[in-house]
Amino acid sequence: MLKTFPLGGIHPPENKLTAGKAIETAGIPASVSIPLSQHIGAPAVALVKKGDTVRTGQKIAESKGFISACIHSPVSGKVNRTDSLIDTSGYRQEMIVIDTEGDEWDESIDRSPGIKREITAAPAEIIKKCHEAGIVGMGGATFPSHVKLSVPDGKKCEVLIINGVECEPWLTSDHRLMLEKGEEILVGISIMMKALNVTSAMVGIENNKTDAIDRMGTLARSFSGISVHALKVKYPQGAEKQLIKALINREVPSGRLPVDVGAVVHNVGTAFAVYEAVQKNKPLFERVVTVTGKSLARPGNFLARTGTPVSMLIEAAGGLPGDTGKIINGGPMMGKALTGTSVPVVKGTSGIIVIPAADAERSPAGPCIRCAKCVTGCPMNLEPFLLMSLSAAGHVERAGSNKIADCMECGSCSYICPARRPLLDYIRLGKGSYIKLLRERKLKN
Ligand code: SF4
Ligand code: SF4
Repeated sequence: MLKTFPLGGIHPPENKLTAGKAIETAGIPASVSIPLSQHIGAPAVALVKKGDTVRTGQKIAESKGFISACIHSPVSGKVNRTDSLIDTSGYRQEMIVIDTEGDEWDESIDRSPGIKREITAAPAEIIKKCHEAGIVGMGGATFPSHVKLSVPDGKKCEVLIINGVECEPWLTSDHRLMLEKGEEILVGISIMMKALNVTSAMVGIENNKTDAIDRMGTLARSFSGISVHALKVKYPQGAEKQLIKALINREVPSGRLPVDVGAVVHNVGTAFAVYEAVQKNKPLFERVVTVTGKSLARPGNFLARTGTPVSMLIEAAGGLPGDTGKIINGGPMMGKALTGTSVPVVKGTSGIIVIPAADAERSPAGPCIRCAKCVTGCPMNLEPFLLMSLSAAGHVERAGSNKIADCMECGSCSYICPARRPLLDYIRLGKGSYIKLLRERKLKN
């Protein structure tokens, strides 16, 4: 029997239209807007000013503190300005705008063909290189990778878990990366194993990607300590706690981290970025983005530079259909609607989904019929109907004591609710208020 997590989960339609579409280069935009915050943690601090000339891969913003990430120019050209512009979240943030001139790469980047398998960098050097290269979690979480590779004193990592699950419907960027860059990913995993001082790594892939399971499994035979595991198709199999439970049968307690149960989890896209950073000295300034939707003429998987306007990717996928009702940044379960298409691709952009107007409408919500489907579907053992009521009524403390902070915002409850109640929308609000309350208390004490 295939491994999976035992509690909750749902089976939305997969709609992986682009699984068979090889990665193609999106092209270089005439101008890019680079947000200074593309990661969890403190925004980076700009190192360039209006009029400066930059090369592709040159560092243009320095990480501020340990939990932060450096940012590199995805193009060569001239800095036009630093400006407050709308990002994918719909809010304004500081961005460096660069007008492209050619594509001249920083000479420190090794652009020679061929895969470099021999790992010469020492653990501390690997972590430093990941920090310098601005590597963040590529599954969408965007947590700085050098932090996750630095195991805190007193803790021990026993196994590195690699997330090749890609359980969000529609998205296929990780799937294609495993098929087309499998060997580089495995070198990246070996590099992370060295940094973490572990001898075992497990790659989990959902069983709807049998070609990737075969490819990665075959390639892994020539790598020491790496095993590949087919997992049952169930959303949210790719969530950290659910993946750990499925692969090593350990439970991460509420409020604790994977390393507390001896595991560190990274995404396959992150492993590829680590390979490029450590073996080729290439910082993170481009990524694979799935651009998809039933109404698109040419849905596909595109290698896009950060800062590329979403509109350019949609053009590459055949242009915006006239009947578009909504455009989602990320997957349909955890992604958020975009307010416009001029916003830039960032390090965490895994997909863009174009939804026709007829499918974008939400059915009106009805009263709760106490069917408990949201409870049985919740992978975190929460009571979503109760959390929604508490959030709506502003009972922040009670929401907290009912573990609202454990909600990973997977959307399973909203998806499964027969009354179409906007559970996640309210739970997000309540969770935000509760976390704010905890912070304020911490500041006072
Ligand atoms: S969004 Fe939160 S409450 Fe709803 S199913 Fe997911 S973890 Fe549970
Ligand atoms: S699934 Fe919807 S209708 Fe059923 S208990 Fe939960 S909130 Fe109520």
